[in-house]
Amino acid sequence: MRFDIMTLFPELVGNVLGESILGRAQKNGAIDVHLFNIRDYTEDKHRRVDDTPYGGGKGMLMMAPPIWNCYQAVLKEQEIDGFSGRRRVIYLSPAGKVLTQAKAAELAQNYDDLVLLCGHYEGVDQRILEEIVDEEISIGDFVLTGGEIPACILTDAVARLCPGVLADPECYEKESISSGLLEYPQYTRPYEFHGKTVPEVLISGHHANIDEWREAEARKKTEEQRPDLLNPPDEKK
Ligand code: SAM
Repeated sequence: MRFDIMTLFPELVGNVLGESILGRAQKNGAIDVHLFNIRDYTEDKHRRVDDTPYGGGKGMLMMAPPIWNCYQAVLKEQEIDGFSGRRRVIYLSPAGKVLTQAKAAELAQNYDDLVLLCGHYEGVDQRILEEIVDEEISIGDFVLTGGEIPACILTDAVARLCPGVLADPECYEKESISSGLLEYPQYTRPYEFHGKTVPEVLISGHHANIDEWREAEARKKTEEQRPDLLNPPDEKK
């Protein structure tokens, strides 16, 4: 899967995505991340990317032309790379639909390339959304200073569902949210920590009992912490 990320802070995004599992996934070719600095595509000599909003109001808005030019550079690079997969252009925005595991799975299954636009300041000129963006995605009902961390979160959530990123699909099939329940409590060595021991069933070697205990614990935890998951609305995307 390919990710083309348009941002004013490519180093921030590159550093986050270059570490750990996603860093390895890039090295082994399971995912391909391309970073584009929107400031490289400005049309004025001061490399300005923002201006005051028409009609007044606080803050600055990112201008449409640098983002448009940046997007053309993304398309050009894809052409040079011989890439012609299914593309989806996403603007990370607090005004978008909130990201869910189901949405991450839908993106991983249906697209070969996500072009992610990271806003900053007060956001971006509406016309660029109309011209290039297929959908807006929010990472939650709160407002951040920029779209870079949301883009990393979306990339992480989608990438770990792509073949070759995690060692075993079971890693995500059985965990919180994907399974429909929160994950059961997990333990590793040492057997005793601060006077608390590991539940005996987990060292019994009896797999049916272990599965049953985990299912019951997962249900209990979900009832306590996220009862909404047990009665989801029809459409969770
Ligand atoms: N004025 C905008 C509004 O009210 O919708 C908020 C702009 S926000 C300060 C700056 C940028 O951060 C946005 O353009 C967006 O890219 C990003 N951002 C902030 N919160 C976000 C969220 N919850 N999910 C995704 N992106 C977010």
